[in-house]
Amino acid sequence: MTAHQTTRKSGLAIHGGTPAVTAAESDRRLFHWPIVTDEDVQAVEAVMRSGQMSSTDLTKQFEAEYAAWQGSRHALATCNGTAGLLAAMWACGVGAGDEIICPSITYWASAAPALTLGATVNFAEIDPATLCIDPDDIEHRIGSRTKAIVVVNYAGHPAAYDRILPLARKHGVKVIEDNSHAHGSMYKGRMCGTLGDIAAASMMGGKSFAIGEGGMITTDDPKLYERCVAFGHYERTGVPSNYNPVDQQVHDEALLRFQGLPLSAAKHRMNQMCSAMGRVQLKHYPARIAEIQKAINRFWSLLEGVPGLRPHRIDEPNSTMGGWYFSRGLYVPEELDGLPVERFCEAVRAEGVMSCGPGLNRLLHTHPFFHEADLFGQGQPTAVAFGQRDVRQSADDLSVSAGVGERVLGIPWFKHDEADRIEQYAAAYRKVAEHAGELKR
Ligand SMILES: *Cc1c(COP(=O)(O)O)cnc(C)c1O
Repeated sequence: MTAHQTTRKSGLAIHGGTPAVTAAESDRRLFHWPIVTDEDVQAVEAVMRSGQMSSTDLTKQFEAEYAAWQGSRHALATCNGTAGLLAAMWACGVGAGDEIICPSITYWASAAPALTLGATVNFAEIDPATLCIDPDDIEHRIGSRTKAIVVVNYAGHPAAYDRILPLARKHGVKVIEDNSHAHGSMYKGRMCGTLGDIAAASMMGGKSFAIGEGGMITTDDPKLYERCVAFGHYERTGVPSNYNPVDQQVHDEALLRFQGLPLSAAKHRMNQMCSAMGRVQLKHYPARIAEIQKAINRFWSLLEGVPGLRPHRIDEPNSTMGGWYFSRGLYVPEELDGLPVERFCEAVRAEGVMSCGPGLNRLLHTHPFFHEADLFGQGQPTAVAFGQRDVRQSADDLSVSAGVGERVLGIPWFKHDEADRIEQYAAAYRKVAEHAGELKR
């Protein structure tokens, strides 16, 4: 064989074979996100040059457009998703001595704001197929102090609202959607963010809907909306400031007394540069996520029947994975003779797929934050000091959540439906699955 011939060595790349993905480093375009064009840049620049950087007019336009797109009556932009979740919890009445229910597998901001409000968290299991809260593990956790269930549409997957909403109604508990992973995901014909009583979504730079730092609260309930305004948007509660005209009449007498000061003692306004970018991003978002869905569905159809791998996606009519944020696959080690997911991922990475890592968010129910942290100098852990009872849970209490990290792996977050490239990435997973026996020692 001459030096000019390319030698494709068969076998796993981790054992010296030729990687399945060639020239992976040139795929920056395939994965780059968010897609920013001159239109975004001009919109942001216009704010910078306007002398109105801290106003609210663009933000209100963004809110109206976002609400219309999603199908919600009200939208309220916040400085980040965490602030939106905090406000949503407060709006739902979460306060001193109360409890929320939240899955253990999620980002900390789904749960931690409860502690800021003097409440505590009862963590629930996830369904290992959807990676969202397990509807069968909710009802027995609802007690007299439970005010809200935080439902996370995890990794773009809509939760089981058909089961969750009736439970919440039956017990008079509010449902707060954490939609930070699922902007644009559809659940049986309705968009995520419209399914619970209220929703909050992060729009930080890494998310599917990304505008730098920001968040969006959405609800159909004018009372919840008004409470969120009063909580963190003091400039909209009937008192003019230097920067903002009065635009929001607060109808609730109880809130009216405090107008002009935020009831959170914190400021939650979104900055206008992010709002300007958000308006541009929203125009293109439906087409861009449709392309992502085509690409990732293509990837999964190439892997149909491959042992050890299953798509993490919703299989219901009129349902989608939105922007497929934090794209995951389900790993079934039993079909690969018990090969640990870490080892599987290591071999896939050697094939040129850098995004293939094991697991998902770390467990919250065992985290020292919820077991030990004394946030307010009360001489005992905050989660205990604020509870009516000690709600701390051990790893065994949520065994599905504790073990799910061994059954989930990362897949490439394709932004463009480029068949040739996607075929190579799928080939990497298929090759490792088919040679899994060689990875066990
Ligand atoms: C990112 C994220 C948040 C927090 O949003 P920030 O904008 O970073 O404050 C909340 N929940 C989930 C599930 C997230 O992924």
